[in-house]
Amino acid sequence: MKKYPFLCILIFLSSAFLFSCHNVSSEANENKSSTNSSSIKIPEFSGDSAYAYVAKQVSFGPRIPNTLAQEQCATWLFEKLKSFTPNVEIQETNVTGYDGTKLKCKNIIATINPENHNRIAIFSHWDTRPWADEDTSKIYHSRPFDGANDGPSGVGVILELARQMIHEKPEIGVTLVLLDVEDYGVSGDENSYCLGTQYWAAHFDKSKGIPQYGILLDMVGAPNSRFMFEAGSIRYARPVLEKVWKEAASLGYQQYFIPNETGGVTDDHVFINGIAQIPTIDIIDYDAMRNGGFGYYWHTHYDNMKVVDKGVLKSVGQTLLNVIFKEGKL
Ligand SMILES: [Zn+2]
Repeated sequence: MKKYPFLCILIFLSSAFLFSCHNVSSEANENKSSTNSSSIKIPEFSGDSAYAYVAKQVSFGPRIPNTLAQEQCATWLFEKLKSFTPNVEIQETNVTGYDGTKLKCKNIIATINPENHNRIAIFSHWDTRPWADEDTSKIYHSRPFDGANDGPSGVGVILELARQMIHEKPEIGVTLVLLDVEDYGVSGDENSYCLGTQYWAAHFDKSKGIPQYGILLDMVGAPNSRFMFEAGSIRYARPVLEKVWKEAASLGYQQYFIPNETGGVTDDHVFINGIAQIPTIDIIDYDAMRNGGFGYYWHTHYDNMKVVDKGVLKSVGQTLLNVIFKEGKL
């Protein structure tokens, strides 16, 4: 995700103010069960499990393109998904970074209910930005950072979704896409971001059906997250926003899912909408009225496991399970 919102009315150039880190207890939300007004059986999402998947990704080191950590984490993600569903593939290619560097790119794709062409897609990127260039301390600007919320949080949620769909299958098909080389971009060149996404959007397998809509997860684990109606999501897929936020409200997650409009960000969903033409929303911790828009941890060395909260992961994952399992049923 990018520093320059493309539809944002208020852009705060100083995103570097530090806020204290509040690792809010997640237990209250962990104890909530999915509430279903109908007879649809919806699995219980585990925030603990999603959290463990985030920590595992971080343990490989920063998942920067062309590093051993990228190789090792890709293998682990593939094997983990494969343990949940047989239909997993790695879409491998090379993409060219803003500086001309050839970058290995591995998008990892799992297809749940491949026979059902009535499907939706869930996306998150798994790579790490190579530099903490938003850090207040310049010594970090050229250094890599853990990247726990920026990338792995959404992937952790997706892995837990896949685990929950082993035994209990939804009515619809679900495509899970873990995107690589999202965060290698530079300011002023929007197209230098989301390189793996651009490749996926131009080459995805349509033989299993084109997803009706998509949901992108980006930075979905921070305490005090603010998931709002992001401008690009409004533009492309407002009904999907309304559906998802309504489901979150029904589960009591209004604290995080705030149905107020905010500015736009250049994120994977822009390319999924623009190239693949799949109406796709972005669930992202972004509030244009907050200093800097993104959370204080964004592209700083503060983005580590301390800014990942099990309860917030649970709020996103349970909301998605409810959406997925109600599709085709109501
Ligand atoms: Zn990022």
